[in-house]
Amino acid sequence: MDNITRIRTKTPAPYKLVAIEPDTHDTKMFRFELPVAATLDMLPGDFLYLHAAINGKQIKRPYTPSSLVGTTGFFDLTVKRYEAGSVSKHLHDQRIGETVLMSGPNNGGHWVDGMAKRVGFVAGGTGITPMISIIRWILINKIDAELFLIFANKTESDIIFRQEWERNLRDYSNFHCHHVLEQPPLGWSGDTGRVTSEILRQHLPAPAPDTCLFLCGPPPMVDALESTLKELGYSEQAIILP
Ligand SMILES: Cc1cc2nc3c(=O)[nH]c(=O)nc-3n(C[C@H](O)[C@H](O)[C@H](O)COP(=O)(O)OP(=O)(O)OC[C@H]3O[C@@H](n4cnc5c(N)ncnc54)[C@H](O)[C@@H]3O)c2cc1C
Repeated sequence: MDNITRIRTKTPAPYKLVAIEPDTHDTKMFRFELPVAATLDMLPGDFLYLHAAINGKQIKRPYTPSSLVGTTGFFDLTVKRYEAGSVSKHLHDQRIGETVLMSGPNNGGHWVDGMAKRVGFVAGGTGITPMISIIRWILINKIDAELFLIFANKTESDIIFRQEWERNLRDYSNFHCHHVLEQPPLGWSGDTGRVTSEILRQHLPAPAPDTCLFLCGPPPMVDALESTLKELGYSEQAIILP
């Protein structure tokens, strides 16, 4: 038995914002304080609800902690600011020292150790956040699994956790990453346009009993690619959504 407290609340609880770090032009990492010997009670891929009173209305949105599961003393959310968004803008407007209300963690499409030996990830934009949690967990804990990431974005400057992908490619032979940009810069070596059936076929592990795929992104992308993955032979159980 360890002496670590595992936190999970049904009702919104206040968490103090202790650090903010930019990641891309519109995405920041927000670090929230936990007691020194406490961690969130979650599996990689699970999410919290962030609650806010906006224009007199209580609203909530799900966010997947991006920090390594099991970290004590703090947890991180990596959140993109939408100009027309309610909760993402509210969070981006917070200052260090202020508190934010959150409930959970809640079960998302999460990773359970041993569930697969080959793991594909297809992410669009902030759809990467549940995946960073899973990828960090598998790589840092040296879990026996081969990882294949396809990450789709509009432009190169939208690629969240960019340095980490490059570091992972250098440091872990079981990590593979393929970028797809709608608007690529000159000399871009990845794919361009949308994620196609051909890109999925080339860069994901083939359907097999020991293979699973995580898929997360804007709803139209997820709907389209879920059908494409099924056409490519992946079973419904092999495709994990947030
Ligand atoms: C399980 C789960 C985990 C999530 N984790 C994260 C996370 O870790 N980090 C993160 O940044 N987001 C995450 N999201 C998305 C997040 O919950 C919100 O949907 C997002 O922050 C927008 O909320 P909002 O209140 O600011 O915008 P809203 O007020 O809900 O929307 C306003 C406008 O913003 C635009 N918009 C909103 N969401 C999207 C989108 N996903 N793609 C494109 N345009 C959009 C639309 O134009 C929309 O009309 C997650 C979603 C799910 C389902």
